[in-house]
Amino acid sequence: MLDQQQFDALAWEKVDGLMPAVVQDIDTGKVLMLGYMNKDALQKTVDSQQVTFFSRSKQRLWTKGESSGNFLDLIEISADCDNDTLLVLARPNGPTCHLGTETCWTPKQQPTLSFIGQLEKVIASRKGADPGSSYTASLYAKGTKRIAQKVGEEGVETALAATVHDKEELISESADLIYHLLVLLQQEELCLADVSAKLQERHK
Ligand code: AMP
Ligand code: ZN
Ligand code: ZN
Ligand code: ZN
Repeated sequence: MLDQQQFDALAWEKVDGLMPAVVQDIDTGKVLMLGYMNKDALQKTVDSQQVTFFSRSKQRLWTKGESSGNFLDLIEISADCDNDTLLVLARPNGPTCHLGTETCWTPKQQPTLSFIGQLEKVIASRKGADPGSSYTASLYAKGTKRIAQKVGEEGVETALAATVHDKEELISESADLIYHLLVLLQQEELCLADVSAKLQERHK
């Protein structure tokens, strides 16, 4: 996180007191929105842990989500190489764009790995839902043992598809495996970020 020294090093004069701030989703890597922060907005973001901009149209501090409830929970802020733009890593509570979409941009392509993070959010949102309303909700209702069994089955099916070099089947079974593993992690109150942290730790 930006410490006092880094805060003081920001080139406010270069940007006329308004620092462009790119907000990126910590779980999917998607760029969610671009806003501008003055010193007060940056301070409020750090103090409240909710991303706050200086709105050029409203001419006041604006905490993203203040009326929609779609707040951006702060994870980390960093400055770029020459201290004149900010990168804000955040976890969104709902769609970030006021048009109701996840991000303010809708490119035809997304970062390759981002969909798995997006899927995990959908899977997490099914917790506690009516088991009749979705397959994921019905899996949660069946409990850990049944979900773990599905992961085991899909793991075996994935391995078998590979041994007969059936690429289509390998893709399909891998998809089943990853989906059920995501459900199992959620059921046990874990997530992909925990697994990724372990992989990063081993990589050191
Ligand atoms: P919110 O901050 O989500 O409560 O939205 C309040 C108002 O802020 C909206 O009606 C829009 O005018 C504006 N707004 C919200 N989200 C965005 C965004 N991602 N980019 C630009 N303006 C936004
Ligand atoms: Zn720069
Ligand atoms: Zn937008
Ligand atoms: Zn399968």
